[in-house]
Amino acid sequence: MMRNSLAHTDLNCLLHPQTDPAALVAQGPLILESGDGVFVTDSSGRSYLEGMSSLWCASLGFNEPRLARAAADQISRLGTYHTFNRRSNPAVIELAERLLALSPMPDGKALFANSGSEAVDTMIKLAWLYHSGRGAPERRKIISRRRAYHGSTVLGATLSGLPSMRGAFAWPDPGVIFAEAPHFYTCAEAGESEEAFVDRLVAEVAALIAAEGAGSIAAMIAEPVMGAGGVIIPPSGYFPKLAELLREKGILLLSDEVICGFGRTGEWFGCQTFGFRPDMMSVAKALSSGYQPIGATLLTAEIHDVVSAEASRLGVLGHGFTYAGHPVTSAVALETLKIYEEMDLLAQVRARAPAFLDHINALAGHPLVGEARAVGLIGAVELVADRATRRPFASEAGIGARLVTLALDQGLIVRNLGDAIAICPPLIVTTAELELLFNRLRQALDALALETAASQVE
Ligand code: PMP
Repeated sequence: MMRNSLAHTDLNCLLHPQTDPAALVAQGPLILESGDGVFVTDSSGRSYLEGMSSLWCASLGFNEPRLARAAADQISRLGTYHTFNRRSNPAVIELAERLLALSPMPDGKALFANSGSEAVDTMIKLAWLYHSGRGAPERRKIISRRRAYHGSTVLGATLSGLPSMRGAFAWPDPGVIFAEAPHFYTCAEAGESEEAFVDRLVAEVAALIAAEGAGSIAAMIAEPVMGAGGVIIPPSGYFPKLAELLREKGILLLSDEVICGFGRTGEWFGCQTFGFRPDMMSVAKALSSGYQPIGATLLTAEIHDVVSAEASRLGVLGHGFTYAGHPVTSAVALETLKIYEEMDLLAQVRARAPAFLDHINALAGHPLVGEARAVGLIGAVELVADRATRRPFASEAGIGARLVTLALDQGLIVRNLGDAIAICPPLIVTTAELELLFNRLRQALDALALETAASQVE
């Protein structure tokens, strides 16, 4: 098929997720054909530094040969099988063992899925099963947070604190309660210290619990760093205090580690960076470096004991996906974890993180940047109309989206979450590549500053 006819066929045949259909018709699709390390090349031969690891997942870049071999080897042995009715396979067994050993719940269990959304849905089901096993089936409500992202299934949309995700899709009156996002820059009151901000947020959660009745609430779900909500990094103290409150009230704490898992924040998991012990965790994305669709729910031994006894009482764990524990996806994820350990992933992230932070902080002085934030190798710059008052741009101005287009012109892929520009490069990024990434980002920001000054965008 000819290249421009590929674009034509795309427009004729595909409905794209998280895309404005009218903008797609106007601009056409960006067709990526190949990758090399942290770079990808489009169908016209243009190369881009991929500053978002695809969707926060390609930690090993875009063409790791060991992952290609792992998939091919497994397909030539056993190309597919399920894990219902006691069935298992060597790849998923070895993967579960390695994954648990890395995790903060080494005595726990792993239940596999095909995506982050499915891992989150599973985690909520297991929270309900747990409470039912403890004789409290009326504990059904879930606490989520404004700006949260927990996936794209109906339950994911219902847990989401993002208007674009909820819109037509959130289940009506679902029993989801929303707490404030821990974003000091946008949510703190005038003159409030970080510590007072944390105390206020935790007191608000306590008040929500009191209003709803603790005995009606199953769990609180939280991303350690909120990803799609704008790369929101919580102040220290937030999670430890929240965890203490929830434990007192018998409410489970579920850590959605779909973005933070596997070294992104400088520890294996975000809950370790932010100092709390969850009852369950959802993981996906970097578990296979994004090369295969896989997710997993990890549960502590204590939760497992209760849910397995309850499932036996009911006759079966009435849950499962055809491809959960798939031998090929498991083999690729297993090889990914082996590579992480062999390359000493955490040491690599920690070695690059100070330069990453310096580059981000250097952008904090830019006239369009209100806040620059980072932890490990994930960060964002928040574009504002007025730095002194922190006044945002009008959302109709589409400033964040414009910056993304200008960055593409510079050969850089980043993503706008409203007017927060997210940066989440592959974890194999070198110091020189980080320098290139931030040079290109600065050029895009300078171009945007000229445009906004010329048109006096507010
Ligand atoms: N949870 C979080 C925190 C996520 O960031 C995402 C995806 N960006 C999901 C869940 C859903 O994962 P998936 O798209 O693999 O279903």
